[in-house]
Amino acid sequence: MGDTLFGKIIRREIPADIVYEDDDVLAFRDINPQAPVHVLFIPKRAIATLDDAQPSDAALLGTLLLAAAAYARNEGLAKDGYRTVINCNDHGGQTVFHLHVHLLAGRQMHWPPG
Ligand code: 5GP
Repeated sequence: MGDTLFGKIIRREIPADIVYEDDDVLAFRDINPQAPVHVLFIPKRAIATLDDAQPSDAALLGTLLLAAAAYARNEGLAKDGYRTVINCNDHGGQTVFHLHVHLLAGRQMHWPPG
């Protein structure tokens, strides 16, 4: 599996504003935030894209989503609401090929996302 800059963030080879960590998940602020709160939740065991996820990754994918939800709840973001996004490959707008969940909050979101 190819390494990405998110692998470097996990290994602390490049800095990031880390807001949450457990055995399986790391979360840090997006360097180019698209909302007042924009945090990326990544699995420490890299999966390149959602298309690469296997049935054996089901628990890890659930753990990622639950970590994002718990963070939003703990930060008082859940009542107003938030958006979670997983971009996949070119048309999805994915630019870093280490699967990640975007958590966006702090402003009204719109649909469709464009
Ligand atoms: P994608 O486009 O793959 O769904 O999301 C990748 C995200 O990673 C983008 O929102 C981008 O701003 C963010 N990003 C890219 N490079 C860095 C970096 O070096 N540090 C941090 N914290 N975020 C990054």
